[in-house]
This record gives sequence, structure tokens and C-alpha cells, in this order.
Amino acid sequence: MSAITFAIGNQKGGVGKTTTTINLGAALASFGIPTLLVDMDTQSNATSSLGIEKKPGAGVYEPLLSGSDLSGRVVATNEKNLWIIPSELDLAAAELELSSQENYLVKLRDSLHNLANNYGLQAILIDCPPTLGLLSMNSLCAADYLIITLQSEYLALEGLSQITGVIQQLKESGANPSLELGGIAMTMYDNRTRLSYEVWQEVNQHYPSEIFRTAIPRTVRLSEAPSFGKTIFQYDPNGVGAKAYLALAKEVKQRFFV
Ligand code: ATP
Ligand code: MG
Repeated sequence: MSAITFAIGNQKGGVGKTTTTINLGAALASFGIPTLLVDMDTQSNATSSLGIEKKPGAGVYEPLLSGSDLSGRVVATNEKNLWIIPSELDLAAAELELSSQENYLVKLRDSLHNLANNYGLQAILIDCPPTLGLLSMNSLCAADYLIITLQSEYLALEGLSQITGVIQQLKESGANPSLELGGIAMTMYDNRTRLSYEVWQEVNQHYPSEIFRTAIPRTVRLSEAPSFGKTIFQYDPNGVGAKAYLALAKEVKQRFFV
């Protein structure tokens, strides 16, 4: 079985992409699904959230440009079945350089393809930056599915048509004909407010088959865990954040892996 690749994206900043990449990835890994995270954000939040040091030359930069083997870039995390290709400082420069290359949209896809086969990976989760630049485009071209994270707040839906439009463009242009919207995960859900519920309802109305039933609650534990270099399952295994990401991962497993 070949790996299923998910880009976790939204061009909006601070909507839970990185938190979801890490904890959804860790939950899938705990189900016995060998999972690779790819940090495509120059902020390197996914890398540092797992307590992994950013080292120049250690990330996706060079393979991204040359299309060379990624296997030397894979780093084990302290969760079983979970690996990461870290981000590094130079990724921003890669974005510039990429634009002058041929086939610049599919560099990441080519590099990841061999890796997945050689390592027996079943899931790849790409943490996208909060822009629709070349690093996000490469991520979307490497992905089978885009999972969008949406903050449960007013105007959450705004910008959604832009990113779903990008899916359409990448499909129609032939850059990634098989890309699909895999799901919408609502994050930072506050069940004490009516607003969170209303936003959930609204998204559900427009995207009934894409929205995941599990909304990730707003909880300070989820925001604290990265500063200890831990996933929520290591930091607060019995809390609501861990329970929610496990439930979300069960939905993902059911939707894509059975
Ligand atoms: P960026 O666009 O900058 O990459 P992002 O979309 O990756 O951001 P995160 O980094 O996951 O978003 O989350 C933004 C901030 O909100 C972080 O400080 C994170 O710890 C916090 N956060 C994320 N999810 C939750 C949650 N469910 N409850 C509380 N805080 C959260
Ligand atoms: Mg992020």
C-alpha cells in the first residue's frame, strides 16, 4: 500500500495547522500507521514543537531544489511510528530559487514519492505555511488531499473559496490532477460560546461531507505542549485536547485508511 499524503493548509495564519499536523500525526502513528511529518514552513514551528533542533542543511531545502533523495533528512521523533523532515532557516531562500526552475511545482512530490515506498510509510502530513506561495503550492502538488483547518470564529469561511479555487486550478492545469479536498477540521472551538456553534453549523451547511464531526476545543494545554517539545499525548494524555485529536484521527482513519 502506498502512502496517502495530506497537506494541512490554510493561507490564514494562526488557525491550528501546525498543532493539527503534529497531534493528528502522532495519533495516526499511535494507531500503528507509520507517519511522516514534513515541515514546509520557514517558521519551523512543527520542528521546534517536537523538540527538534533546527540545523542549517538538515531540512527539505536541498532535496527540494535538486529533487535528490530525502531519506537522509528524516528524523525520528520520540513517538513510535512518527518521523519528521524538519524545516530550516534557508527554506525561505528555496522559495525564491524554486521559481526559476523547471517543473518547480512538483519538486516535493518527486522527492517524497521514493521515500514513502522505501520506508513503508502509510501517511505523510505536510505542515504548510500561512501563504499561498511556492512552498504551499509544492505541498499541494505533493498531496492527495488537502485538509483545511478553520478557526471556529467569525469570518472563518472567508478565504475558503480562495484555497478551494487553488485546488481547482492545480487540478485543471494538470499540476496535480488528483488533488481533492480531504476534510475541514474546526479548531479552537469554544463550547461556552454560541459563536463557535454557529460557525460550525455554517461550515457544515456548505461542506457537509468534508467537515469532520470532531471539533478541536480551545484549551491552553494544546498551546503549552510545544514549549516542552511534546505532543499533546505526552504532555496531557487525559485532557480534552488529546481526546479530541484522537477522535479526529479516528475519523481520518475511517475516511482514508479502511
Ligand atoms: P501559522 O499560520 O503561524 O503557521 P498555524 O495555523 O500553524 O499558525 P498553530 O501554530 O497551530 O497555527 O496555532 C496558533 C497558536 O494557537 C499557537 O500558539 C497554538 O499553540 C495555539 N493553538 C492552536 N490550537 C489551539 C487550541 N485548540 N487551543 C488553544 N490554543 C491553540
Ligand atoms: Mg504553523
